[in-house]
Amino acid sequence: MPSRRGFLAAAAGGALSGCGISLEQGLWNPCRSQLPQRLASHALVQAAWQGIDARQMWDAHAHLLGTGDSGSGIVIHSAMQSLLSPAQFARRLFFLNAGCVHEAPGNVDRSYLERIHNLVDGLRPGVKLLLFAFDRAYREDGRPDPESALYVPDRYARDVARAHPDYFEWAASIHPYRADCVEALEWAAANGARAVKWLPAAMGMDPASPRCERFYAALARLSLPLICHAGEERAVLGRDAQAFGNPLRLRRALSQGVRVVVAHCASMGQDRDLDRGPEGPVAESFELFARMMDEPRYAGLLFGDIAAMTQKNRAVPALARVIGREDWHPRLLNGSDYPLPGVMPIFSVDELVSIGLLQAAAAPVLKEIRSYNVLLFDFVLKRTLRSGGKAFAPRVFETRGFFERLKG
Ligand SMILES: [Zn+2]
Repeated sequence: MPSRRGFLAAAAGGALSGCGISLEQGLWNPCRSQLPQRLASHALVQAAWQGIDARQMWDAHAHLLGTGDSGSGIVIHSAMQSLLSPAQFARRLFFLNAGCVHEAPGNVDRSYLERIHNLVDGLRPGVKLLLFAFDRAYREDGRPDPESALYVPDRYARDVARAHPDYFEWAASIHPYRADCVEALEWAAANGARAVKWLPAAMGMDPASPRCERFYAALARLSLPLICHAGEERAVLGRDAQAFGNPLRLRRALSQGVRVVVAHCASMGQDRDLDRGPEGPVAESFELFARMMDEPRYAGLLFGDIAAMTQKNRAVPALARVIGREDWHPRLLNGSDYPLPGVMPIFSVDELVSIGLLQAAAAPVLKEIRSYNVLLFDFVLKRTLRSGGKAFAPRVFETRGFFERLKG
């Protein structure tokens, strides 16, 4: 690794959430290729595929990233490109390294996709990734915020999915304060989008705002699910509107009949219990999500994805809870949060062993798989987890039916 990364490592703590990082696999993704046969056919890998129909397996949470160097239209905030903002610069470097494109100047967009191809080829035929576009932040007056963290156009996500239909599906990202939000949604639906993705803390939409109503009505009419981050969000710098990530703020969408997928099951952070008034006490975001999951009226509407729930800063205790709640499994969707499984210090396999969710013998195998194929690592890890003798059901991974469900 180039030496400047040594200095940047000092900024890593800030860039990587400030909450305990693990160096058990070093700082940087080694980005190996060609998984050795002894790993590909390892008993742990075989067991992971047991009972899974790969053709039904869509990774329901994956990020389409790049730098815009292919003419994709991707725009990254200037702070992430400048050494004057070391934490942001390091964050960008971690993402590029996680996607194994740090050595591809001028060819990042394309290399990012090629690396995913290689990783998916290491899974089984039929597996696809649902790639997320990422809209700009908008102000309440409907104008774009020049401080947007990141912009990944819907059109690019559509083009990538169209060019590689055996690997990708796509999710649009449309800010509901845009004057043209309904037209943009109709365009996305007509162009094969499977969902809409929001990250309120960075994009600046309040899911509880009446401003979202016409967008929710259109989502319900088009039968497109909304995948929305909830709980604390650290992945992308943004407008620090963390309160917008309160899962209770999604009640407005649910009341309008929108299918909502709460990303990460809101498994990090704390939010105000708005059910007890605007000044209600502070509660774990996950507990607020759990309360909503247990409300019968949301049975066919509210879902959660388990993306990133195996990360070090989320692993306790929400992960054990969702494994144990078998009654929730039909409403859980697996996603990898790619490229985050490639950000080495934010996962600790050893910690999952120490809290009893993983057998010690699995740890070295999983770590080695991770150095070659972070998607296979994420899948086998989740399939291997046990809590109180329970495991994630195969259907958690067979998400295709959820996205192909038609209205009615
Ligand atoms: Zn994500």
